[in-house]
Amino acid sequence: MLMVRCPDFVRSSRDEIDDERTRTHLPNWAGPTVETVQCLCSGKRTGMNKAREVLGSFKARFGTGASVYKAPGRVNLIGEHTDYNEGFVLPAAIGFSCWAGIAPREDRKLVLYSGNLGEGREADLDNLGSRGSGQWSDYPIGVAWALEAAGYRLRGADLYISGDVPLGAGLSSSAAIEVSTGYALLSAAGHAIDRTKLAVLCQRAENEFVGARVGIMDQFVSCHGQAGHALLIDCRSLEYRAQKLPAKVKLVICNTMVKHKLQAGGEYNVRRAECEEAVRKLSAALPQVRSLRDVSSEELAQNRNLLSETLYRRCRHIITENKRVQDVAELFEQGKVVGLRELMAASHESMRDDYEISCRELDVMVEIAGRQRGVYGARMTGGGFGGCTINFVDAEHAAEFQARVSAEYETAIGLRPDIYICEASQGAELVEAAAENLTRVIR
Ligand code: ADP
Ligand code: MG
Repeated sequence: MLMVRCPDFVRSSRDEIDDERTRTHLPNWAGPTVETVQCLCSGKRTGMNKAREVLGSFKARFGTGASVYKAPGRVNLIGEHTDYNEGFVLPAAIGFSCWAGIAPREDRKLVLYSGNLGEGREADLDNLGSRGSGQWSDYPIGVAWALEAAGYRLRGADLYISGDVPLGAGLSSSAAIEVSTGYALLSAAGHAIDRTKLAVLCQRAENEFVGARVGIMDQFVSCHGQAGHALLIDCRSLEYRAQKLPAKVKLVICNTMVKHKLQAGGEYNVRRAECEEAVRKLSAALPQVRSLRDVSSEELAQNRNLLSETLYRRCRHIITENKRVQDVAELFEQGKVVGLRELMAASHESMRDDYEISCRELDVMVEIAGRQRGVYGARMTGGGFGGCTINFVDAEHAAEFQARVSAEYETAIGLRPDIYICEASQGAELVEAAAENLTRVIR
């Protein structure tokens, strides 16, 4: 996939590429080998163009107009696997999103279609079951299930879903699909909800209906994201602070193009279980401990004998990572980037050695990034075992960074990475309101 930055050119499928315009905007475009061209611009213009595309596809499939809701993916700047330990995270919403077009139906059926996968599914709101079936539609149906279980009576609806968050790359296409459909379903039924509650119910859908024991971070930042800011989230209280990012720093995301699937799925839940086991063991000596959030480095050292070597290292990652999140937020608060490189490097090493969730491709990508000009810090991001790295890069050097890292990674690994130059974006929003449904339901 080729990613481009330009103000007014958005295409999302090979069929729709207008060769003439593509060449004008992309002088080096190689022609038919390009699979997909997407615009990296975030904000209104891209959103509006994509909303219009979703409206067109909705009309073609369902024959009516629709309202369109959009929710972003995210990149986590620092704080990995700390959310489910009731600790701290520092993610930002990004300019890749999922769009959900919706029109209410007279019956209690959900008729879903994913433009990304070219697949339709149906569900009956009166018979949703309580577990998914291992399909993509588990995400939107799970959200309907969680909303109904929380007392929000929904209406049947036609839904057309389409996004540009790469699926399964660690940028949370799952939260984007959940939050955009959740927002759409609530609106079609005329319910208001606050953003934190929507995030919590989307997480519940993913935990219980889809069966992935993810923390609250992804859904929270997809709901609450703010342009130009990361969110420092306390995952215990769900209080958060929008943290302005230094103006000259770009968030550059490097996709390794690998996902070691077997590890990625199972090991996430294994890490969670290990943390829970460590809490059980530590609380024998430290009765006030409810989660690893409550354990200090000194207490961990004093009680090391209660833990196996593996559990000790898992705890050390979580405890030191929580401190690093707060240190990075503090640097940004002071408008500083000095010291960022060391904190990001320590985070990566901790994930590689103590939490054991890195892989060769991620390590190589981080190592290559660290050698480039204008880099203020690099680390793997997301659940691990592939996916992406996050890099803070001086705006002036971002294009050079993109070109060099791409070439060096391809030489080292044999895969051409996707590299996205991003800015922090805003959270879920209504982008097109059907005339008959102008109520803004989200607070
Ligand atoms: P990530 O959140 O890192 O992208 P996940 O494995 O958590 O990876 O979620 C990806 C899954 O979410 C996809 O495999 C698919 O089932 C579902 N999904 C996300 N976006 C869409 C979409 N636009 N259409 C259909 N399914 C989607
Ligand atoms: Mg996900």
